[in-house]
Amino acid sequence: MTYSKLHIFTDFDGTITDTDSLVFLTKELGGGPAILEQVGQQLRANTMTLRDGITAEMATIRASFDDAEKLLRAKIQVDPDFNPFVQWCRAQQIPLTVLSAGFHEVIDLFLPSSAFPELEILASRIQPLETGWRCVFRDDSDYGHDKAAAIQQARAAGFYTVFIGDGLSDRASAEVADEVLAKRYLAEYCRTRGIACQEFETFADVLRLVVKRSRVGLF
Ligand SMILES: [Mg+2]
Repeated sequence: MTYSKLHIFTDFDGTITDTDSLVFLTKELGGGPAILEQVGQQLRANTMTLRDGITAEMATIRASFDDAEKLLRAKIQVDPDFNPFVQWCRAQQIPLTVLSAGFHEVIDLFLPSSAFPELEILASRIQPLETGWRCVFRDDSDYGHDKAAAIQQARAAGFYTVFIGDGLSDRASAEVADEVLAKRYLAEYCRTRGIACQEFETFADVLRLVVKRSRVGLF
């Protein structure tokens, strides 16, 4: 069994964590359910890009980052099975990349580089201004961060790619990855679009599925 040509990519919000940090921050410190509902409707109707939706939601937040940090740490949990999964990837020398449409500053609170030195994190950035938080997107795409681009690069370099995700910003990634592990909205999307995927709930399931696939000689 060899994992040498495997590269695993995972979403952050709602996949590694139990709660989407952008939704949480907007609900608790920003425009609340009203703006979430308004943006959500337009995203579902495809009349707004995710980039513009995130921009609109973040602009309603005027709290300091310190206040946001306290709330995030108190209310959002990382899947307890994520760290064992990271350690397993490290032991197998499998590159593991977090791809997020959210923000580095938030992810760093939960996955600090001191504790996760090998973990690559690709995300946008946030400027917590008093006049409303301002997004500094990673690229010019409609997602604010074209996660699928990193997967395509790995494929072009000869890697077999696995993508793990749950949401709207994960759709393009699910379309390009060799293998998809999905939950919630993304699992529904894959079913609708005829994209093969395996469903999971926790990173214990993810580890079990990846190991199982390797035993049948996939990797
Ligand atoms: Mg997500």
